[in-house]
Amino acid sequence: MPDSDDLITGLIHHPYQPPEGWAAVPPGVFKASTVIFPSVAALRGRSYTAKTGYTYGLRGTPTTYQLEERLATLEGGRHCILSPSGLAAITHVNLALLGQGDELLLPANVYGPSADLAASVLARWGITHQLYDPMNPADLAARITERTKLVWLEAAGSVTMEFPDLTALVAAARARGVLTALDNTWGAGLAFRAFDLGVDVVMHALTKYPSGGADVLMGAVLTRDDRLHQRLLRVHGQLGLGVAANDAELVLRGLPTLALRYHAHDAAARQLAAWLASQPGVTRVLHPALPGAPGHAHWAAHCTAAAGLFSVLLDPGLRREQVDAFVDALRLFKIGFSWGGPVSLVVPYELDGMRADRSALPGHLVRLSIGLEAVADLQADLAQALALLARP
Ligand SMILES: *Cc1c(COP(=O)(O)O)cnc(C)c1O
Repeated sequence: MPDSDDLITGLIHHPYQPPEGWAAVPPGVFKASTVIFPSVAALRGRSYTAKTGYTYGLRGTPTTYQLEERLATLEGGRHCILSPSGLAAITHVNLALLGQGDELLLPANVYGPSADLAASVLARWGITHQLYDPMNPADLAARITERTKLVWLEAAGSVTMEFPDLTALVAAARARGVLTALDNTWGAGLAFRAFDLGVDVVMHALTKYPSGGADVLMGAVLTRDDRLHQRLLRVHGQLGLGVAANDAELVLRGLPTLALRYHAHDAAARQLAAWLASQPGVTRVLHPALPGAPGHAHWAAHCTAAAGLFSVLLDPGLRREQVDAFVDALRLFKIGFSWGGPVSLVVPYELDGMRADRSALPGHLVRLSIGLEAVADLQADLAQALALLARP
C-alpha cells in the first residue's frame, strides 16, 4: 500500500511548532541551503550585507553570524567574514583587494602556501608580488611603488619564527597609503592587539587555536572599517565562500576555552624552549619570547603572550638521516602539519629553497607545536630522542 499523499505532505509541512523560549549555553546549530521567506515582499526586501536578515545558507545563518560576532569581539574588530580554511581566507583578501596590474608585498617568512598562491594564480592574473625582509622596515618601504596595493604581515613568521617590528612595518605601508593585512593565526587575538597597531585587515586560521581540536578547517577575515568590510563581503559572496554549520559549531565550542588553552600552550612551550636551549645538539631555539631569539625585542614591545609554537636548529654537523631519526624517535610528538590542537606535533623543514638567505639560520630546523600533555612527559620524550643524536 503506498502511503497517502496527506501523510507524505504532512510530514514535510507539519503544523507542529516547538514552544518558543529555548535558552541553553551552546548557540543553536542552524543548517540550510534554502531560507524560507514569509512573503514575496520579504524575499524582495532582504539584503544579507547588513546581517539583519537571512537570504540563503551561503550568505549566513544564526550560527555563522554568532561566530563572526564573537571573533570580531575577540580581535577588537567590527566585522568578520568566515571562509572554509585559513588559506581560503588569505585567497579571499587577495582577490577582494587586488586586480590586474597591482602588486602585493609578502614577508620573506610568510606562510608558504600564501607565497605559492601569489607566484601561481595571482601571477597568472597579472598581479605581481615581491618578498620583503620583515626584519627590515626600510626594505619594505623601498619596495613600495605606485602599483603596491597590499602588504601582508605575519608575526611571528612561519617556521623561522622571527617577530617583526609590526609598528614600523605598518607605518611604512601607511605612509604610502597602502593597505595592510596581518595573518594573526599565531597571535590568535590574544598575544597583541592588531587593530590598535593600525592594521587594516586581520586574518586568522581558526583551524589552529580557536578550534583547538585538530578537527576543523576554517578561516576568518576581520576589519574595523565599514567600507573595507563591504568590499570584502561583496567578493566573498561572489566567490561563493561559506562554512558548514557543524564546523562553525566546533569553533563556537572552542572559543570559551581559547584563552585558557592559549596560555597553557604558551607556558609549556616557553618551559620546553628554555630547556632545549641548553641541550647538546641544539644550536639555537627560535621562540620569540626567548631572549636572544630573532625579533625578541619586538615581541617584548608588542606582546603579552606567545603561542605554543617554536622551532629549534640542530647542529649543522648532523646528517639529515640523524635528524629524521630524532623526529621518528619521538613518541608523544606526532609528525604532522598544522598546530593548535591537544596533541604535540613535530615537522622537520628544509630551509634551503624556503629562504633566500639562510646564513643566519645554520643547521637543521625542526618545528615543534606544544600540545596540552604534561610538560614533564614532553621533556622526557624530547630527551630520549635527543640522546640518539649523541651517537655517531
Ligand atoms: C595554518 C595556517 C594557515 C592556513 O590555515 P588552513 O586552515 O590550514 O588553510 C595560514 N596561516 C598560518 C600562519 C597558518 O599557520
